[in-house]
Amino acid sequence: MGGTFDPIHHGHLVAASEVAHHFQLDEVVFVPTGRPYQKSGREVSAPEDRYLMTVIATASNPRFSVSRVDVDRPGPTFTIDTLRDIAEIYGPQVDLYFITGADALGAILGWQEADELFELAHFVGCTRPGHTLHDPGLPEGRVTLLEIPALAISSSECRQRVAKGEPIWYLVPDGIVQYINKRGLYQGA
Ligand code: ATP
Ligand code: MG
Repeated sequence: MGGTFDPIHHGHLVAASEVAHHFQLDEVVFVPTGRPYQKSGREVSAPEDRYLMTVIATASNPRFSVSRVDVDRPGPTFTIDTLRDIAEIYGPQVDLYFITGADALGAILGWQEADELFELAHFVGCTRPGHTLHDPGLPEGRVTLLEIPALAISSSECRQRVAKGEPIWYLVPDGIVQYINKRGLYQGA
């Protein structure tokens, strides 16, 4: 599951759990982006902070893990590199599913070499409440759009709440509230 995770919140965790259930996945590997080119409009938190928050949020689930492949690769993150790295780590016998938001998926598949991407993984686009699912003309069979009705939470809203001194308890795992406080993240967001 690729994302900026700035910060990771319960919407991401529910989406991962739903997709894992739907496709009967053995494991969900969360992959925080390095420098996301889609989000160049604002300052993204340090990769190490986003990586650590993702580790904290997923630590208690034996089927969730976190990969550093995008955080450690210099330069902007391209999904093709993510998938090549993950495929190499997990080996050829593993079926890969690339999970992200339907919004991000449209951008990735419109922008990058879609044919090669589809050779490496099945793509799953999640939507949250308030975001309409519209199929951007994606090829049959290699892409599934899945509505995750549970939680209308976004990282942007979490950052804005922190900046305004509003609570984010229960929108994110407890350890994430504590990590954000400890590191003083999003104070001026
Ligand atoms: P931001 O508000 O900064 O855009 P975000 O909440 O969308 O952050 P990302 O790290 O960009 O978080 O999320 C990765 C992917 O997970 C996104 O493409 C997004 O659409 C999806 N996602 C985020 N929140 C939810 C949610 N509550 N339910 C389902 N999918 C979600
Ligand atoms: Mg988003």
